[in-house]
Amino acid sequence: MATNRTFTMIKPDAVANGHIGAILNDIIADGFRIVAMKYIQLTKKTAGDFYAVHKERPFYGELVNFMTSGPIVAAILEKDNAVEDFRKLIGATNPAEAAEGTIRNKYAKSIDANAVHGSDSNENAEIESNFFFSQFERF
Ligand code: GDP
Ligand code: MG
Repeated sequence: MATNRTFTMIKPDAVANGHIGAILNDIIADGFRIVAMKYIQLTKKTAGDFYAVHKERPFYGELVNFMTSGPIVAAILEKDNAVEDFRKLIGATNPAEAAEGTIRNKYAKSIDANAVHGSDSNENAEIESNFFFSQFERF
């Protein structure tokens, strides 16, 4: 299993607030290479399936509604130690607790609308990348 790739989404809040460019800049400046990228709007079915692991959590419905509220940018990113380094770059789930200079600290306003997704393990990075991208969409 590759350990040098992770999967991300720039979420609807960050897209709507005009932060796509700034967030991609931060990602590239931190040493990540873009392997694959697309600009899409999730359906209830795709968002529900993507977040199926959170189905039993009280915020699942809100999460699916939020993630389908506007377009997102989905991408596969490459760097040594990608999963861990990317979680460091984005900061804590709750932007109020995200370290200074992290993407969620700079661009997110609430725990639900928190600007970006980042895979939490190599295994999930692989599953999430395969959910969005075919082998012909990776460079
Ligand atoms: P992450 O891995 O840091 O994104 O956090 P989790 O995997 O725990 O949660 C997935 C996503 O669900 C988060 O990024 C938030 O968008 C959302 N979320 C987490 N906690 C809450 C909550 O308490 N309320 C709501 N509405 N959304 C939440
Ligand atoms: Mg997570």
